[in-house]
Amino acid sequence: MSNIEIFEESKKYMPGGVNSPVRAFKDVDLTPPIIKRGSGAYIFDEEGNRYTDFVGAWGPMLLGHCDEDVVKAIKDTCENAIAFGASTELELRLAKHMCTTLDNVEMVRMVNSGTEATMSAVKLARGYTGRDKILKFAGCYHGHFDGFLVSAGSGLLTEGIPGSAGVPEESIKNTIVGQYNNIENIRQVFNKYGEELAAVIIEPVAGNMGVVKAENEFMEELRALCDKHGTLLIFDEVMSGFRVSYKGAQSLFKVKPDLVTYAKIMGGGLPCGAYGGRRDVMEKLSPLGDVYQAGTMSGNPVVMAAGLATLTKLYNNHEYYQHIDSLGLKLQEGMKAIAKEKGIPLVVNRCGGMMTVFFTNKDKVTLYEDVMSCDTNLFKRFFTHMLKSGFNLPPSQYEAMFLSVKHSDKDIEEFLDAFRKFQV
Ligand code: PMP
Repeated sequence: MSNIEIFEESKKYMPGGVNSPVRAFKDVDLTPPIIKRGSGAYIFDEEGNRYTDFVGAWGPMLLGHCDEDVVKAIKDTCENAIAFGASTELELRLAKHMCTTLDNVEMVRMVNSGTEATMSAVKLARGYTGRDKILKFAGCYHGHFDGFLVSAGSGLLTEGIPGSAGVPEESIKNTIVGQYNNIENIRQVFNKYGEELAAVIIEPVAGNMGVVKAENEFMEELRALCDKHGTLLIFDEVMSGFRVSYKGAQSLFKVKPDLVTYAKIMGGGLPCGAYGGRRDVMEKLSPLGDVYQAGTMSGNPVVMAAGLATLTKLYNNHEYYQHIDSLGLKLQEGMKAIAKEKGIPLVVNRCGGMMTVFFTNKDKVTLYEDVMSCDTNLFKRFFTHMLKSGFNLPPSQYEAMFLSVKHSDKDIEEFLDAFRKFQV
């Protein structure tokens, strides 16, 4: 069947034809290619078209598609162990690897997705502090848990409105929405709610409004305010963990989080997640403490094996990060130079192997308002041109594109050649 035939048929059996909304290409008014296989930096659709992939399963495939060591670990494990719902040595090995190679993780709990990790970390923070309110930032995404599906209301200090149907006002009444990179705003939030805040959750390098890095001063102030008010600071490193560097965004700032959430790369492409951090906080989790969180599939042996193979390979090959960074720089500078020649208004934000091309007349994109003022029509035309030229990018202005270890200089040069041919 052709891509279109499969997609049309899929719509009969799955809402919108997909299992996760962004895959439907709604923002760009196109039919998505139906992907059959992946190898290294490339993916191939059902019609045999090849795309150089800059989505990487939305982040996880840092080692490229079907990395041989990850495939071997999965195959070797599932010969004898698929699921037990019991303790295994494999889960110990991954937990120990994370606790010993990461900076702020003394203990860890495995779960099955990024949403589960962030939702559980917030519950733990609430249980630990005995408080209910949380602060999140407009433009940051932490998964589809009701308490996170909040849109910023108007005004500087907002209590937010539900960002999805099916989310009762009740579920978000304890969620305060703050302004990313706006120090004055967080001071106001803490002045008003400081004593009631269980946690602040933040993407230290945001990827879900496109790539926007938190500023050092902002993070330092946030940490100081949390300390002053007894609020826990949660870094959501579901996307940035093991990506912007092995140790994630934590290594880019002088501040330490109390809890950290992971997913994506740490599962090597299988469904996974984890949250970890300070021992005294983690010990509040059941069965030691009174915060209940459980999972039939949590710590699944096949997932643990894929995660361990991925993280040990990354840890033992720090040069991978240099490779990705140098390709990222080449892509970023190349795009800026071409845009200048052609008079395309463009800002490229990048942090290691994650990057967003913002179509905007602004000089820089550091705030949510900057992101929201981008020209999404121009993005749509750019996306369509690049897809037709054989490059798979995230189908939205508000997402990050991802590089992998398997991308080469040639892939970047081909990308830049295609961009040069973009007719504005
Ligand atoms: N947090 C962040 C920062 C994310 O980018 C995502 C997913 N893109 C999530 C949480 C939710 O993860 P999942 O889709 O695995 O539930």
